[in-house]
Amino acid sequence: MNAIAMNGLSFNFYRELAMTLVWYIGSLSLMLSLFVFVIRPKIAIPEMEKADFRTQIEIAKFIHTRKSQVAFGNEKNWKYLRKQVFRIQGKKCLKCGIEHENMHIDHIKPKSIHPHLEFMIDNLQVLCPTCNKEKSNKEETDYRKSHHLMALVNTIKENKLLRERYTYDFEKLTRITKEKMKFELAA
Ligand SMILES: [Zn+2]
Repeated sequence: MNAIAMNGLSFNFYRELAMTLVWYIGSLSLMLSLFVFVIRPKIAIPEMEKADFRTQIEIAKFIHTRKSQVAFGNEKNWKYLRKQVFRIQGKKCLKCGIEHENMHIDHIKPKSIHPHLEFMIDNLQVLCPTCNKEKSNKEETDYRKSHHLMALVNTIKENKLLRERYTYDFEKLTRITKEKMKFELAA
């Protein structure tokens, strides 16, 4: 009698243990798949390379807004940038060569499409009002010469203020300088 009761008890005990285990494993896998397939994709930060164009602009706007509060995001600092660009490139139009009393500083990559580059000194060039007006919002022609770019790199490296808030792509600048030099020598 005792032996049967004990057997019955242990059978129930193991059955309950097994059911509890199944229940725990089941809920754990359910939560895990919920996290992997539903929650994680929502909280993942989009990477610049993978993000589509629209997202890139949104990210750029965010970076721009955040940085402009502390860095070159006001008129005073724009004036400073202008002065630096004129010092490096001179006051003649890089496209047609004329000098005008009201020379423009053009954004090589338009700020409407690349707002985060608005206050980047490596995105600026001197143009006369006429040439600047002719350059549309989609055009990205870089009229700088190789010596302008070399002076630019030196200026950035020597100027703590310019380096403070922005990271410059020196590798890319060097590559463009070399390409321009090659082109200038061939011309
Ligand atoms: Zn011009």
